[in-house]
Amino acid sequence: MDIYETVHAASEYVRGARKRKVLVPTMGALHKGHLELIRVARQTAGGDGDVLVSIFVNLLQFEPGSDFAKYPRPQQRDEELCREAGVDVIFRPGPEEMYAPDRSVFVEETALANALCGKSRPGHFRGVCTVVTKLFHVLAPHAAIFGEKDFQQLAIIRRMVRDLNFAIEIVGVPIVREADGLAFSSRNQYLSRAEREQAPVLRAGLVAARDAAQTGERRSERVLEIARAQIEAASCARIDYLELVDADDLQTRQIVAPNSLIATAVFFGQTRLIDNIRLP
Ligand code: AMP
Repeated sequence: MDIYETVHAASEYVRGARKRKVLVPTMGALHKGHLELIRVARQTAGGDGDVLVSIFVNLLQFEPGSDFAKYPRPQQRDEELCREAGVDVIFRPGPEEMYAPDRSVFVEETALANALCGKSRPGHFRGVCTVVTKLFHVLAPHAAIFGEKDFQQLAIIRRMVRDLNFAIEIVGVPIVREADGLAFSSRNQYLSRAEREQAPVLRAGLVAARDAAQTGERRSERVLEIARAQIEAASCARIDYLELVDADDLQTRQIVAPNSLIATAVFFGQTRLIDNIRLP
């Protein structure tokens, strides 16, 4: 496994590589969700291809006053997990490698990014699109793998690739969960014991809402009410948003339709967790 910490070194590798390259962009603090993306990357790359993992805590996608400074950066452990998972290349640039102090060009998606997380995290998806574009340019992957946990991010990346003609296949991977239903997230380690015990209500609320839709409730308001009641029963939980949207345009829907999705962000104490569920 090779580790490149500069854009120059990564570019040299790319110039020499004749193989199919599949990229898994991450911010590190790797967990079983990331490992599933790496497994899918291997499948997508084939035995002869290279699996690339980028590890970069992207300042541009953190709002001022958020957890950028305290975001976990367990370098050694991430390396070990990548090695065990059969990763070929880690690209782990320092911040100064990726951003000039007087940077003035950004990539912005202007429709989907206004929904859901975009409302509570202004500038977040601009940061995501900008860094993903840069990673695509530096590493020139044939395919890139993203998790459905960040459903809106995946939709925005697909839109960006379509609208800007990146010749890169985007592959989505279903959410990987703990046994109690909580989606793996690097931020789960911020949770106190009490918050961690309550966090599975996020999934439980979404499942209850889906079940209600499955058994015939068509009114979004009623379906969401079921999720809200379950989530708010947890004393540590504070809902940031809970919406029923169309999975393609991310616009809210009053009536459950074939392509509906419920997406939510909930604070447990200071920690904001996201989750989503497709409706039947
Ligand atoms: P992050 O390091 O949090 O930026 O995540 C990197 C990638 O891993 C993103 O595409 C996420 O959607 C994906 N991911 C994170 N957690 C999970 C999970 N529990 N299941 C599936 N994908 C995940």
